[in-house]
Amino acid sequence: MSGSDPRKVQLLMALRNQGVRDLAVLEAIEKTPRELFVEKAFADQSYADTALPISCGQTISQPFVVAFMTDRLNLDKRCKVLEIGTGSGYQTAILSPLCRRVYTIERYRTLSLAAQERFRKLKLPNITPLVADGSKGWPQQAPFDRIIVTAAAKEMPQVLCEQLAVGGIMVVPIEERAGVQNLVRVIRTETGFETENLLPVRFVPLVEGLARES
Ligand code: SAH
Repeated sequence: MSGSDPRKVQLLMALRNQGVRDLAVLEAIEKTPRELFVEKAFADQSYADTALPISCGQTISQPFVVAFMTDRLNLDKRCKVLEIGTGSGYQTAILSPLCRRVYTIERYRTLSLAAQERFRKLKLPNITPLVADGSKGWPQQAPFDRIIVTAAAKEMPQVLCEQLAVGGIMVVPIEERAGVQNLVRVIRTETGFETENLLPVRFVPLVEGLARES
């Protein structure tokens, strides 16, 4: 672990202690400048382990949650990945070096365009962004080896389950009841779907339809 920034080193150690096992995930966190993804006013908190506000009333996820979700996806370089909720693009940037291609959908054009600018700046070559309602998935590109949803669904999104390849993995936050969300992992088998609760989380809601922007 190289680490000129002591706050980053501390964050990486905390992630390891909290069960992020995949060294490639930790390396991606180490190499990705989170300060590029947060609002200027919060730059000094870039390596604090907290979610932060971004524009359009959304949030950039907490580094632990990003690392944990990525870890539990069991990625390899052959994977074709679908992400729902581009937001700042930070999670996308972490996925990028760990897989073949990331298809990422965001319902706010403003957020998608800002994220695309960051992908260009960081020279991340394997990201395909789309402004659309991600709750419908991306049927033209399906099936996906992995799906990651970074906004909370009200129930298990069947449409997304169906876009998972056999053997594929999805991690998705599901709102069990008001204010209570669980991160759920779904594995598609030859015969159906296996699900497992991973951890309580707090995400902004998955909202259907494109966002209206002024
Ligand atoms: N992964 C992001 C987290 C952003 S918060 C990051 O690291 O910054 C979740 C994002 O999901 C928000 O930007 C929100 O606009 C988006 N979102 C919510 N519902 C959506 C939907 N149906 N389709 C696409 N994006 C959606």
